[in-house]
Amino acid sequence: ENNSFQPTSLVADKLLGGLLASALDEGSCISRYHSSMYHKTSPYKPSLYLLSKLRKYENRHKRCGPYTKSYIKAVKELNSSHANRTTGCNYIVWLPANVLGNRIVSLASAFLYALLTNRVLLVHHGTDMDDLFCEPFPNTSWLLPADFPLKNQFDSFKMRNIHSHGNLLKNNNMSSSTMLQQPAFLLLYLAYDYEDHDKLFYQDQNQGFLRKVPWLILKSGQYFVPSLFSISTFRKELSILFPDRETVFHHLGRYLFHPSNKAWGLITRFYQAYFEKADERIGLQIRLFHPESSPSHLVMKQILSCTEKENLLPQLDKQKHVALASPFKNQTLKAILVASLHSIYYENLRNMYWMKPTVNGEAIGVYQPSHEEYQQFGDNMHNVKAWAEMYMLSMTDVLVTSTWSTFGYVAQGLGGLKPWILFIPDNQTIPDPPCQRAMSMEPCFHYPPSYDRKANMMLDNVDHGPHIRHCEDVSWGLKLV
Ligand code: GDP
Repeated sequence: ENNSFQPTSLVADKLLGGLLASALDEGSCISRYHSSMYHKTSPYKPSLYLLSKLRKYENRHKRCGPYTKSYIKAVKELNSSHANRTTGCNYIVWLPANVLGNRIVSLASAFLYALLTNRVLLVHHGTDMDDLFCEPFPNTSWLLPADFPLKNQFDSFKMRNIHSHGNLLKNNNMSSSTMLQQPAFLLLYLAYDYEDHDKLFYQDQNQGFLRKVPWLILKSGQYFVPSLFSISTFRKELSILFPDRETVFHHLGRYLFHPSNKAWGLITRFYQAYFEKADERIGLQIRLFHPESSPSHLVMKQILSCTEKENLLPQLDKQKHVALASPFKNQTLKAILVASLHSIYYENLRNMYWMKPTVNGEAIGVYQPSHEEYQQFGDNMHNVKAWAEMYMLSMTDVLVTSTWSTFGYVAQGLGGLKPWILFIPDNQTIPDPPCQRAMSMEPCFHYPPSYDRKANMMLDNVDHGPHIRHCEDVSWGLKLV
């Protein structure tokens, strides 16, 4: 097989230690083969079992993907009231929920579910996600065809209320054991506002039933991977796939999300101008969910108190006007990348390093690629910029992120970085400590089934196992460590 793992160091490096298949056309997706020259080599190696699982997945996707014989047959069966299961191909259709960071982490979760249950992942996205990613699987497509029959029902009331897994269970006394026939398709509604009956997805005894449903339609927007580790059907295989639990998003993210040539242009032009010659790259991601209750002078103070305490940014020499170290000779260059919707933090930092020298006399460059001011919806270029910035943050050596932000999670996961998380103030006082080092590089699952959103309560006596902890930034959230 020509796309199997090739152990020679050069090829292996370019293909991220065998993570990527080699059978793809280089020009259509330059980032796929060039990203290893920009990212530091990852110290985390994918397990051989993950690699073989991915190669098997690629074959399955090629066999069952859009417009193959099996696909056409499976689509026809959507019209029958129950599953005939004659094609040998089962699918999970991913629907977008929330915005980009949430979409990326839920897409990775959907892919892991597809790996575990031998499904084929098809992606439905509106035009605002065009031009972000390359096709990840060789010689096929992961895009849901435009003529997919259920497409105009995806957001309908009927889908959520009649065709959802949760609803089916509700109507059958919360148990799938009494149901004799599998429907041809079901919606898995796993978004932040899901209800108790939707959460039954996470119960082991319901997975057997789901296995026989040919089409699952998933709406989530969440990084639900930690709770897959709690389902005993999957636990053993997950531990072989990922002996190092905190590398799930790191590997799957690097496998799936390759910037399109358009995004790669933004990324590499920035890199070459500001990062390439730097001795150290520092990323600051400042995300404010309630800018009105987080005054910028307070946020700025917090950023500085965090970076000073943890020694992340070069220290200023406030007594001097000019550094004593001789210029030009072995001078260290440090590049600070600020990602934020707002420009004030960038302006303050740039000004700070212009007005005063640093104690060690380093040259400091401060850059912010964009400041979009407002979060925009449905705009493709806005998303390309956001994606490019997440990716550029992943190329840093030191990363500071903000509470609650999937934008930051994507950057840390792709980069293999444990960031310092800023606990953004929203009650006019700076939290103490101002930031905390993340336990692992994994994203946080914000709304696990063990959290009751309406009552704002965590359910007690849930055993999450040794590798799952509550998140640093969301007390009821869960993450792998
Ligand atoms: P989260 O809300 O922080 O979890 O991250 P999401 O990516 O899900 O949503 C935030 C959205 O706001 C992004 O997708 C961007 O559209 C926009 N946004 C937030 N922060 C930034 C930033 O630093 N740079 C850019 N370009 N866009 C941002």
